[in-house]
Amino acid sequence: MKIMKFGGSSIANSTLIEKVARIVAGESEKTGICLVLSAMKGVTDLLIGCAREAENGKTCYKETFNEIKKKHLDTVETLFTQNKKKEIREAVIWMLSELEEILHGIELVRECSARSLDVVMSFGEKLSCRIMASYLPVLGHEAVFIDASDGVIITDNVHGSAAVLFTQSYKAILKRIKSVKGIPVVTGFIASTSSGVVTTLGRNGSDYTASIVGAGLDADIIEIWTDVDGVLSADPRYVKEAFVIPELSYQEAMELSYFGAKVIHPYTMIPAIEKKKNILIKNTLNPETKGTLIADTVKRHSTCITGIACIDRIAIINVEGCGMVGIPGIAARILGEIAAAHINIIMISQASSEHSICLALKENEAVKAHDLLNRALADELATKQIQNIDLLRDLVIIAVIGENMRGTPGISGRLFSALGLKKINVYAIAQGSSERNISFVTGSGDKEQALLTLHHAFLEVSPENTSG
Ligand code: ADP
Ligand code: ASP
Ligand code: MG
Repeated sequence: MKIMKFGGSSIANSTLIEKVARIVAGESEKTGICLVLSAMKGVTDLLIGCAREAENGKTCYKETFNEIKKKHLDTVETLFTQNKKKEIREAVIWMLSELEEILHGIELVRECSARSLDVVMSFGEKLSCRIMASYLPVLGHEAVFIDASDGVIITDNVHGSAAVLFTQSYKAILKRIKSVKGIPVVTGFIASTSSGVVTTLGRNGSDYTASIVGAGLDADIIEIWTDVDGVLSADPRYVKEAFVIPELSYQEAMELSYFGAKVIHPYTMIPAIEKKKNILIKNTLNPETKGTLIADTVKRHSTCITGIACIDRIAIINVEGCGMVGIPGIAARILGEIAAAHINIIMISQASSEHSICLALKENEAVKAHDLLNRALADELATKQIQNIDLLRDLVIIAVIGENMRGTPGISGRLFSALGLKKINVYAIAQGSSERNISFVTGSGDKEQALLTLHHAFLEVSPENTSG
């Protein structure tokens, strides 16, 4: 059996939903299918916007709600014929009225906690899956709607980005999905705690759902269907020469996605690695192309790097001081303070002189982290053991990734000379000891030029780009 996951871009409107249903129907003639779906494109953003408007007492939340309502009811209107329409219309209206009541509650109390936001967001996937589960029978295929937030994927209670409890989830997946008659249509992205409170797996998390369900059901393959031909060597919006990478190791895929290749959520690889499941990225708009295979062992690439990725809206905090040299525990204190505030650090670099520590984090969390460190290190600042805690904004992280970088000398040299020739300033550099990744921080204004320069220098055809 195989898992087929379709993202929001693949089910953006009724025409695409029909296309997806036909692809699924065709495949289910050949093998067992478990379908995982995201919300329709843009719906999760609308739900978040709506909840925030209600929280701020802005009555325009009703307009946003009506936009969500119209989108789904219009879809139902065009997809279904008269006799089938009534039943699905009623089911969708019932779900929407529940959402409306929740939004009204948020408006009344003027508060939307992360826990409430998870409940609001869960409607996107519930609506799209409910519609698809009713549409597949129109094509002659029995289907069953499965709400993963109803005790199918179990997590802790960290709302907004919950951690999956795998043993419990695998057990529930087997019990609730395996024996289903027809095609299970499982909601991506949403889950629940063991006491039944709705949680979510983080934005873009439906890919992760597909891989958890694939591992739980012991599927032969996990297919992620999206709107591009596979994982590309760089973000196609910035590098038009970017090409499809035919095969990637789990680690390369994890690094590329962690550093911004949005086409797959980085956690998707976790259950796949554990259960040795292959992942295939496919294009819904172009199903004939082969896509990208992500697996344990893959063919060696001919270039010394495999791909380039980029994270936007980054800031760095630079803690600098002669007094830091040799003081044990200073890094632990800095990192501890930031961890205690639940702020994620994306990249760390420390010069071996120990004179400075540089942290790269999301720009929207950087001011808070900066204030926190100024307070926590006030004594060291007063005694000049630490001279400055600087905050620099409007930056990006760019990472070059590839298995072939391991043990290949000279890559950093080529990389930074190429950037130097284009006068691109680099603020911080980090290389993991896995040697699969070199990442650096540069100004957001230099992002596009840096991506193009590196793609040209390492990935476009030339004799020096062949690793042999
Ligand atoms: P879905 O709705 O299917 O989940 P996403 O929007 O989450 O789709 O991810 C697909 C998008 O990821 C592509 O349209 C593309 O713009 C973007 N993307 C960024 N980097 C890459 C990359 N290296 N390879 C492929 N796509 C990428
Ligand atoms: N609908 C969710 C989001 O927009 C999850 C997903 O699309 O994977 O983030
Ligand atoms: Mg996605």
